[in-house]
Amino acid sequence: CGICGVVGHRPATPIVFEGLRRLEYRGYDSAGIATVKDGKIARCRAAGKLDNLKHALEKTPLSGTTGIGHTRWATHGAPTTQNAHPHHAGHVAIVHNGIIENFADLKRSLEAKGRTFETETDSEAVAHLLDDYIQQGLSPKDAAFATIKQLQGAYAIAMIFEGHDNLLIGARHGAPLAVGYGEGEMFLGSDSLALAPLSNQITYLEDGDWCILTRDHIEILDGQGKAVHRPIQTASLTT
Ligand code: GLU
Repeated sequence: CGICGVVGHRPATPIVFEGLRRLEYRGYDSAGIATVKDGKIARCRAAGKLDNLKHALEKTPLSGTTGIGHTRWATHGAPTTQNAHPHHAGHVAIVHNGIIENFADLKRSLEAKGRTFETETDSEAVAHLLDDYIQQGLSPKDAAFATIKQLQGAYAIAMIFEGHDNLLIGARHGAPLAVGYGEGEMFLGSDSLALAPLSNQITYLEDGDWCILTRDHIEILDGQGKAVHRPIQTASLTT
């Protein structure tokens, strides 16, 4: 339901957590955060209120300066901790808003390749598909593009990659996603409320767009994989 992500130079978890707080108004039944630190992905999830995630994070702190977070409103699979996002498969972790309509077909072919799913969600298919391309030797950028080309339905997605502390990839199709520009840090969020007060320079992705964020740069591409320019909107800083 809500997404917040950062690639930067400060601890990511508090930034992402506060972003999720600002997205609470959208409603949710569970929440989670994943970070990448020294090339390794770690995550923490909890059913119920963000306070439950906060307590879980006290027991399992997540360090790292790149992270993604999610507040889930379950459409496929019960609102449990096990089904909460981020979904971690092999070398990637993802969060997803919306519904992947062809998830059952994707899941079947990924299971036929020997992959084991651990949730009842449609979203987990995205994590396995992405990781499958990574395992085939594709770069994160090529793997992300290959993945989104196979997805049907509505989605906003954020992805992080093992071995890549300075990378965050997002994609949108039928669900909103915006990027925010910072100084040596870049942000991703499902709406401008997630990004205020992190950035006053915000770009809304258009449908079919995807984006590659590093600490110092944001590249936006269209559904054909062509780099595109989208306007930056300057917002007044509010909290
Ligand atoms: N369809 C996904 C799920 O049920 C994402 C729901 C959402 O947008 O929060 O896990």
